[in-house]
Amino acid sequence: MPVSIIFRVAVPVPVRRVFDYLADTKTDVPGPGTRLRVPFAGRLVTGVLLAVADTSDVPIGKLKSVAEVLDTDPAFSADILQLLLWAADYYQHPVGEVLHSALPVFLRQARPARLEPVSVWRITSTGAGADSALLRRSPVQRKILSALSRLPAGMSAKGLAELSTSWRKAITRLQEHGWVEQCDLEPAGPEGNNNPSTGPVLNPDQQRAVEAVKSALSAYQCFLLYGVTGSGKTEVYLHLIEEAVNNSRQVLVMVPEISLTPQLVQRFQTRLSAPVTVIHSGLSPEQRMQAWLYSKNGKARVILGTRSAVMVPIPDLGLIIVDEEHDASYKQQDGFRYHARDIAVMRARNTGVPIVLGSATPSLESVNNAEKGHYELLALPERTGSAKFPDIHCLDLRRMVATNGLSPALLDGIKDRLAKMEQVLLFLNRRGFSPAYLCHSCGWVASCRRCDARLTYHKNRQRLRCHHCGADVPTITVCPKCESTDMKPLGEGTERIETTLKKYFPQARVVRIDRDSTRKKGALEQILNQVNQGEADIMVGTQMLSKGHDFPQVTLVGILNVDQGLYSLDFRAPEYMFQQVMQVSGRAGRGDKPGQVLVQTYHPDHALFRALKRHDYLEFANSMLEERKAGEFPPFTYLSLLRVETPQQSQAQHFAEEAVMLARKHAVVKGVQITDPMPSPMERRAGRYRVQVLIQTSQRKTMHQFLQLWLPLLEQSKLGKRARWSLDRDPIDLY
Ligand code: ADP
Ligand code: ZN
Ligand code: ZN
Repeated sequence: MPVSIIFRVAVPVPVRRVFDYLADTKTDVPGPGTRLRVPFAGRLVTGVLLAVADTSDVPIGKLKSVAEVLDTDPAFSADILQLLLWAADYYQHPVGEVLHSALPVFLRQARPARLEPVSVWRITSTGAGADSALLRRSPVQRKILSALSRLPAGMSAKGLAELSTSWRKAITRLQEHGWVEQCDLEPAGPEGNNNPSTGPVLNPDQQRAVEAVKSALSAYQCFLLYGVTGSGKTEVYLHLIEEAVNNSRQVLVMVPEISLTPQLVQRFQTRLSAPVTVIHSGLSPEQRMQAWLYSKNGKARVILGTRSAVMVPIPDLGLIIVDEEHDASYKQQDGFRYHARDIAVMRARNTGVPIVLGSATPSLESVNNAEKGHYELLALPERTGSAKFPDIHCLDLRRMVATNGLSPALLDGIKDRLAKMEQVLLFLNRRGFSPAYLCHSCGWVASCRRCDARLTYHKNRQRLRCHHCGADVPTITVCPKCESTDMKPLGEGTERIETTLKKYFPQARVVRIDRDSTRKKGALEQILNQVNQGEADIMVGTQMLSKGHDFPQVTLVGILNVDQGLYSLDFRAPEYMFQQVMQVSGRAGRGDKPGQVLVQTYHPDHALFRALKRHDYLEFANSMLEERKAGEFPPFTYLSLLRVETPQQSQAQHFAEEAVMLARKHAVVKGVQITDPMPSPMERRAGRYRVQVLIQTSQRKTMHQFLQLWLPLLEQSKLGKRARWSLDRDPIDLY
């Protein structure tokens, strides 16, 4: 009897298991990581081969056959497959979905994993010797032929289209003459830079950092590059990248959000000779597949990407850099909820290469790892050149009235800077005109029908919007409760501050930088250019301002409203608030003129501001770590959050109760604390009721043992099948 070959396949469905299929015994057995088309629930899906076996738990006769083998060379190399299997297990997410999410869209569909050849048209020897006078009456053909005679490598359709809109007809005629030929070439890959510019000479701190990493290029080691804003971290990265590339290695550079830092890509491309490919969510499916393949085939030597780039195949990987490692956008907040920084560290370890985590405000996790000696701390304590730290002052709101959100002292400061022709930056983490809109007669407040949240008033567009579910309705002019027309905005958002500034300083050029003003493609770049060319006097914006932009001409930074971060329920809120304030403050005084930061607050004596005034992030981090330790919070304990949401309140509650019962009865692991179900801080969102269960352990291993027992039980629950639920391991917020 012929032995059957059984393929163990990860299928993109939300269950934590793999499926067996019968393989064709006549062809060669492909390797793990190969994409397969397999029948599943009445349709064909793209799965990934994990292992080959000769027996199955399912009777052979009941197994379906593989429909098609899609790759000749496995889409997932062994190292990426290992990494993703680890991640699926760590985050307890269905392996089929994890593998699926790591593929470019085109490869999730059944397309072949190869680059589309590009057509070029070249002049033939007959064409080169032809008498172009013959083309007297065909000016387009003559133009093309003469262009091609100057470009022996040929021209693509794009180039030809720039010569003439009727190039297709002309080229066909030229081909008929035998003067031009068409050929299909493999795309050359991203271009390197033949003429890279040289950077500044490194200062001693930078040099020390570069040397430390350089001497460790052949093995895993994690470095925490703690460099204050403007201390020259990027210069350190550039030197390390160059070194690794010169050693014939590829480098993965991760950044939080490329669309917010367009200058960074350009800086890399002008400074590095190596071909750089960029990977982020703004790419078309085609561009994404190209970038993925250029990384995999080694044509790209530097891979600069956001979160998902951590899962791209990089065969000669020699170094990983994670810039702004504290940034929350490294955490995927739906579906497969991974933390790209943490996966990057694991990847570096598996591959045996160094990794550099860089930040002016490192996460408490990383500071703690450095203190325990798991990471090596490299410090850049000084700003480069003549730039000094800005002077930080608190403005006590208990002693002054801030009309429309701006205190008299801050207004004076702005006036002063404007008179000196210097720039001002105001930070307020709230977009829209006002965070509330209410009836002055009866106190009715406009709230979202589907969420436990107020609607934000957007005056420019005359809309009321929910920032949680996206609900968007026209502004209400008559109170639905008392029919009064005395409707008023309450509180301030960036739009309102912008309006107020224009009133106080009619001559000043005010620009607003938030998600609303930068929605259009290229809009942010345009505003940043305007600012850098001195065509703006005051910038008002949200946390987008804290994302790595340099504003050398800014000498005054105003922080308008950060108090909610001081006393929030979320244990991470002070950390995030401090990081934002420190990052925004770091935008000031990067040029030769000293900068000043004015913080409006009701709590000027808070310990957080004392550390801020000393520009001492580590002091702050250490005091926060003490608090976390005393309160038994991460990084001293480990958390997982089960989130349940259903249209009816009781459904979510029942499943959460069952989940807790299953945990306490059937997933007993010593040292695991399980809370009773509790409503999420925002109980209703987008029309669903939300309940959560928090799991806490003092050891990472214990958490894992518990989850491995618990999750399969949840998956089998009937109540669970009717609810939407997810597990968030190492959550970055508890909402
Ligand atoms: P960071 O990434 O820490 O914010 P950058 O690397 O962007 O800092 O450096 C900030 C500015 O200082 C940049 O304009 C950079 O060109 C400049 N710079 C960096 N290192 C040096 C140096 N050693 N000497 C002079 N200028 C430097
Ligand atoms: Zn009313
Ligand atoms: Zn809503």
